[in-house]
Amino acid sequence: MNKFVLLTPGPTMVPERIGKAMQPPIIHHRAPAFVKIFTKVCEDLKYVFCTKNDVFTFAASGTGAMESAVVNLLSAGDKAVVVVSGKFGERWKLLCEAYGVNAVVIDVEWGKAVKPAQIEEALRENPDAKAVFTTLSETSTGVVADLKTIGAVVAETPAALVVDAISGLGATPCLMDEWQLDVVVAGSQKALMLPPGLAFAAVSEKAMKLVEASTLPKFYFDYKKYRKMVEKNQTPYTPAVSLILGLQEAINMIKEEGLENVYARHARLAKAARAAVKAMGLEMLSSPEDAGNICTAVKVPDGVDGNALVKIMRDEHKITITGGQEHLKGKIFRISHLGYVVDFDLILGIAAIEMSLKKLGADIQLGSGVAAAQQVFMS
Ligand SMILES: *Cc1c(COP(=O)(O)O)cnc(C)c1O
Repeated sequence: MNKFVLLTPGPTMVPERIGKAMQPPIIHHRAPAFVKIFTKVCEDLKYVFCTKNDVFTFAASGTGAMESAVVNLLSAGDKAVVVVSGKFGERWKLLCEAYGVNAVVIDVEWGKAVKPAQIEEALRENPDAKAVFTTLSETSTGVVADLKTIGAVVAETPAALVVDAISGLGATPCLMDEWQLDVVVAGSQKALMLPPGLAFAAVSEKAMKLVEASTLPKFYFDYKKYRKMVEKNQTPYTPAVSLILGLQEAINMIKEEGLENVYARHARLAKAARAAVKAMGLEMLSSPEDAGNICTAVKVPDGVDGNALVKIMRDEHKITITGGQEHLKGKIFRISHLGYVVDFDLILGIAAIEMSLKKLGADIQLGSGVAAAQQVFMS
């Protein structure tokens, strides 16, 4: 018999409540019954995004919302500052290149957070930059950037600040209005505890000014069409009706727990994961001040193949964690505590990591990481 646990940074586990909420027969998306639901969902999304701005909902994966920000804000030949501190920052760069946007790249060592001063300097040297593209939670390294300070830096300039909050939103604070973020993009299959298939973009008035001037080609993702339709609590094209029903239930769950408590739960799980890593005698990829609360990236001990660890975890223990990406492949593993994860899901994961590492020949004391996590949970 198999029972699966996902300790992954998306897709994440879907609570039974949300699964059930998606079961009813399809409602027509222009019928009053659906419009009523979508009206509430659009309002509630503002709570999750901590904004008064409109939040646009797409039937796409998170990358679709990233693409939407590039094509709606910019024109070919425009300059944009792009922070690359991991796989997902790199995606901003690739998107800019795909559309002929002139990307001024701030290269940050993977595992470190960009310093707000680096962005300040890049904007001083490139006063004609129309936008800054960066990442709240760089899922490839576990690092969470200081978007509050970055927001204050960019707000002083004409540039719009575009944030990939796909793995961060609903797990770690992302105060769009207070931090002066101009576009915040997210996806359904991370902290929102839904299956993949929905992407979101919340857009500020400063960003909408750029939208007016943008000439890059766009059709499905055209923000002007979404803005017009969101006023009628609809989407221009058929929404993913069942996922929207699930989203309503997901937001109900987040509201019941309270956003602050959701952040605190992720922080507590991350603290336990870090304590377990230390107690097992392993090393984190990042310094403690850069490590975020979404996923914990850990260096694989010398002589152990990180890919083999992930495989044993999945095939023998039915627990999915993730390995490293690009040059970190085989060198790190990432244990995620994102979305529908509670203390004992993490305990299972740590126990299985101990057993798998021991099997691969690492010098690991069984129970050491579990005990350290238990200590955190009891304190
Ligand atoms: C998962 C993720 C993405 C990609 O989202 P898709 O839904 O796979 O397109 C982008 N950025 C970050 C930070 C992510 O964690």
